[in-house]
Amino acid sequence: MHEMALSESMILIIEQEAVRQRFDRVKTVCLEIGVLSHAEPEAMGFCFEAVSRGTVAEGARLEIQRPPGEAWCMDCAGTIEIARRFDPCPRCGGHQLQVTGGEELRVKELEVV
Ligand SMILES: [Zn+2]
Repeated sequence: MHEMALSESMILIIEQEAVRQRFDRVKTVCLEIGVLSHAEPEAMGFCFEAVSRGTVAEGARLEIQRPPGEAWCMDCAGTIEIARRFDPCPRCGGHQLQVTGGEELRVKELEVV
């Protein structure tokens, strides 16, 4: 499961922050998982909990935000919303799309004690 590796790298980032900002307990972790990213929020929640054991993020509440998929359609010359990466433009049915949002996969905020 690649969510496990993603969670591990996120924990690593949090642990580095803990050293830099001198905190030793995280209360809430806010994750941004765009709908076009390759991670499943449910699997992320499960894996995050597993890999956070014994770290500063153990027992932290996980808050997951889902930025919508957004793309620029060259034919419409406008921003449209898409649910999946290779979806056609909902306005014109075109495939000349450039993804501009929804690929986020990062630790957005930490609430520390
Ligand atoms: Zn279009």
